[in-house]
Amino acid sequence: MSNDQTPAARPLLIAIDGPVGAGKSSISDEVASRLGILHLDTGAMYRAAGLYALRQGVALEDEAAVTAAVLRAEIGVRYENGGQRTLLNGEDVSAQIRTPEVAAAASAVSRYPGVRAQLVRQQRALAQSTPMLMDGRDIGTVVLKDAPVKIYLTASAEKRAERRLIQYREQGENPSFEDVLAAVNARDEQDTHREADPLRQAEDAVVVDSSDLSFDETVAAILALVDAARQKEALHV
Ligand code: C5P
Repeated sequence: MSNDQTPAARPLLIAIDGPVGAGKSSISDEVASRLGILHLDTGAMYRAAGLYALRQGVALEDEAAVTAAVLRAEIGVRYENGGQRTLLNGEDVSAQIRTPEVAAAASAVSRYPGVRAQLVRQQRALAQSTPMLMDGRDIGTVVLKDAPVKIYLTASAEKRAERRLIQYREQGENPSFEDVLAAVNARDEQDTHREADPLRQAEDAVVVDSSDLSFDETVAAILALVDAARQKEALHV
């Protein structure tokens, strides 16, 4: 490019990764809506893959069978009033994927490289066509390696367990703090130690530790990082 040309603005792509219970989904929803861009919750796609494997009765430990099944399934998203709906073979499964059974199946199927390759391909294709915020475990390290804004959103295991406990109580359940903390630690262990694309902070990601921040303060911290990136480079929404 010659010097007298202004570089074309890149689309604003925001990658948010982090451990379970860091508040990625709700924070991402709010940040994306404030910026007027779409939010792709990639965990929902792994959940749809897990739901399909369960419905097909495939043994979750059978990597070849799970991978073949997920390649047959049509997993997609659509946006309704700015909110993501997750589709499995054309059926809206947004509610069905929010059960503990499906969460466990998602965790199991997301270990398989063939499953990941398929979903990563789709996620990249979605980001080709529009500015967006994507949240998951491997967005800054694999899916959107060139994203101009990368955030690693985390909080202490104790804080994340506390927040989870509040959610459980709102749902009328009352597990002990120790049990919730043990589950948070177990998910961390699984996500950071699996072979295929484990959860880790991208080298160029900025850490936002929400342990001592409110929801609004966390949103503001992320919006400030987006603003800083947009000062440095033209990024269109
Ligand atoms: O974020 P959520 O809990 O909905 O994710 C469901 C499962 O999908 C998790 O167990 C997580 O490990 C997996 N996942 C993944 N890569 C992503 C998003 C989620 O492996 N980008």
